[in-house]
Amino acid sequence: MPKQIAEMLIESVTMELPDTKTIRLQWPAGYDVDFKTGQFITVYWPDAPAYKRAYSLSSCALDRGFYEITVKRDGKMGTRLVDWAKPGDKLWVIEPTGRFLPVFDPPGKHLVCIAGGSGVTPFRAFAREATRRELDTRLTILYSVRTTNDIIFREEFQQLEQENERFDFYVTCTRLHPDDPWTGRRGRITAEWVKEHVHDLPNTVFYACGTNELVEATERLVLDELKLPKEQMKTEKWG
Ligand SMILES: Cc1cc2nc3c(=O)[nH]c(=O)nc-3n(C[C@H](O)[C@H](O)[C@H](O)COP(=O)(O)OP(=O)(O)OC[C@H]3O[C@@H](n4cnc5c(N)ncnc54)[C@H](O)[C@@H]3O)c2cc1C
Repeated sequence: MPKQIAEMLIESVTMELPDTKTIRLQWPAGYDVDFKTGQFITVYWPDAPAYKRAYSLSSCALDRGFYEITVKRDGKMGTRLVDWAKPGDKLWVIEPTGRFLPVFDPPGKHLVCIAGGSGVTPFRAFAREATRRELDTRLTILYSVRTTNDIIFREEFQQLEQENERFDFYVTCTRLHPDDPWTGRRGRITAEWVKEHVHDLPNTVFYACGTNELVEATERLVLDELKLPKEQMKTEKWG
């Protein structure tokens, strides 16, 4: 089946951080495709149809009538979207695809989601769906950022933690000034830190999303150090 492509109106934009914007794309009348939490869409501007880029959905499959993507100002497409996309503009959208899917079924899994920077975007979708459906899936996000000013969706993740006792959101900051009052973790994601959050290894599924560097480091940890089979690891590499 060919992928459905639709022109969508930008309904609203939200600056999450000075360099990161969430764009809400309104489905046109009659649009109704089957998609899953964790998938990505491909977008392009009407005046540059050959320049297409993928963006993970930061909204989840229970959010109907729109897609949300959360984009960092980086490279040509990232800069154009963050600096120029505004309500009323139109973007072409190729329907969601991808296999970076949360294992909600069978129930009782523990999903350990490792992200750096904007790589946290699909995990908002995971946490939203697990919380709204009151799933018994356990979800832990381990999130690496430079400073406390770089945490995307901080309030929403904290709110979801309040609503869902099976969801935990942990941040580590890699470039904080030593005098910064942050009392949370500092430094890069390490094997020890990840292992601290694993309580039932056979029932744990690891996810890593973001730069190739972060994803490959996580793969080494899970496949080589923890010696888990590939089926217990899902990755989304952004380049
Ligand atoms: C499945 C998938 C999902 C993704 N989801 C997201 C998402 O949710 N949010 C998000 O923000 N991004 C996401 N990305 C990345 C996104 O698709 C774009 O690649 C990103 O926005 C950069 O835009 P670009 O490719 O046009 O950049 P390009 O202009 O092609 O640049 C690519 C990289 O090269 C660097 N670069 C460009 N020119 C130079 C130069 N002269 N010197 C040095 N470095 C340079 C840029 O900084 C950038 O890092 C995803 C990618 C994939 C594959």
